[in-house]
Amino acid sequence: MGTQRLIPLWTDSSIWSDLAIKSRGSLDDDLQCDVAIIGAGYSGLWTAFYLKTLSPDLRICVLEKQTVGFGASSRNGGWCSGFLPVSLGELAQTHGKSAAIETYREAFQTLDEIENFLSDHQLDVDYHRGGTITGATNAVQKNRIENELNEMRSFGFGEEHSRILSSKELSTRLNIDGLTSASYTPHCAAIHPAKLVTGLARVVEQLGVKIFENSAVVEYSSGQIKTESNVCSAPIIIRATEGFTARIKNHRRTMAPLYSYMVATAPLNSSQLTSLGWSNRETYHDARNMIIYAQLTRDNRIAFGGRGAPYHFASRVKPEFDLHEEIHKKIIRSLNQVFKITQEVEITHRWGGPLGVPRDWRPAVNFDRNSGLGSLGGYVGDGVAASNLAARTMAHLILSDGHPLCELPWVNHPSRKWEVEPLRYLGINGLLRIAESMDEHEARTNQPDKFRTFIIDKFLGD
Ligand SMILES: Cc1cc2nc3c(=O)[nH]c(=O)nc-3n(C[C@H](O)[C@H](O)[C@H](O)COP(=O)(O)OP(=O)(O)OC[C@H]3O[C@@H](n4cnc5c(N)ncnc54)[C@H](O)[C@@H]3O)c2cc1C
Repeated sequence: MGTQRLIPLWTDSSIWSDLAIKSRGSLDDDLQCDVAIIGAGYSGLWTAFYLKTLSPDLRICVLEKQTVGFGASSRNGGWCSGFLPVSLGELAQTHGKSAAIETYREAFQTLDEIENFLSDHQLDVDYHRGGTITGATNAVQKNRIENELNEMRSFGFGEEHSRILSSKELSTRLNIDGLTSASYTPHCAAIHPAKLVTGLARVVEQLGVKIFENSAVVEYSSGQIKTESNVCSAPIIIRATEGFTARIKNHRRTMAPLYSYMVATAPLNSSQLTSLGWSNRETYHDARNMIIYAQLTRDNRIAFGGRGAPYHFASRVKPEFDLHEEIHKKIIRSLNQVFKITQEVEITHRWGGPLGVPRDWRPAVNFDRNSGLGSLGGYVGDGVAASNLAARTMAHLILSDGHPLCELPWVNHPSRKWEVEPLRYLGINGLLRIAESMDEHEARTNQPDKFRTFIIDKFLGD
């Protein structure tokens, strides 16, 4: 360990990827089952888990293009949080205040649900519920944090859900420079994402669900899925393909893949840890527009990520996009800026992956009983815990059992299709540029950028 090297020696893979991976067979014959799920990430596997638990006689299979957890589920930042990419105010506007409150209550309680699952199945996923600290580095960010808190209060969520940290308490939780203010919420746990998705797959298989790997779905319609060489017939078909959705026939404009990139440091030594005072593994981000996120892993590395990578024309997703020289450099700069101590710590890993973004930025759980077709996802980077809630909702929708979750606003929420190219490319990349320049403006002037905010609101609105 020493200062960062000029010629870095990092590994181009995630810190989460060194698990012993069980490999599974592919679909090499035609198959009939009751429910077929496309995609073996959290969404697909949680759906299989809840369905099989509630209705053990169902014959359920999961078809995965690559291997279990190949997508975002094994490479994310490990924030298992009660956050959603849609605010209380936005939910209230379309579905009323009580539906908004119920959605957030369920999202927060999802952490208890996941904790119970982990303990019932004795899965160790490095889970630690330390909450989240949101820092403000300028007046606009401070204002943003206060507005969010005020919104929480106006929907009846008190101090126990989110509160401003005094500078004294902040310094005992996470001692970093340059914050003008910070808030704290208990609704987040740091996890090892790959341990969660591989453990979940094992549990699901023990229940009797069949998972087929290297079985890419090329197209599907009511009652039938086609892979390159086989057909899977099922009256119920659920798509859980998130950032990869645009590769499936007839879904080119359903979800835009945006890339998020991460780096990890070598484990911090005890004096570095002491100087940070980071003993409760709170996840950390600040209130900038172009999101950054950090967690202290169980082995004391800082895993740090950020958005802002360019969108690829025609929603392309390719293995070579998992690394981005320029964005990784930017992320390391941000890491060094936020946690000054990391300027002296080796960066050991870098990686990235696509997340799914619907046109209106709102996740959805859709199921049509007539066609038997459904889908869940579009979490815009908040899917670790939200996928559990979405999958539970999906299981009850399929079973048509009148469960209250089936009333949540994201059920059968229609998001319009993304624009045709090149409008999609120009729009998304323009938006990303604007968000980045807003952060620069806010840091420079301590003033909100009303014009750019207006443009972003227009783009995201109807
Ligand atoms: C770098 C990064 C950091 C993130 N950090 C966080 C975080 O800290 N907290 C948080 O809440 N969220 C985070 N997210 C988002 C979160 O990881 C996702 O929302 C979540 O994993 C979505 O799970 P999923 O099962 O819906 O999708 P995925 O995990 O992407 O799974 C989709 C699966 O479908 C398969 N598939 C695709 N096409 C086909 C096909 N045609 N046939 C068969 N199978 C197919 C894929 O191979 C993949 O395995 C992050 C995402 C990224 C990329």
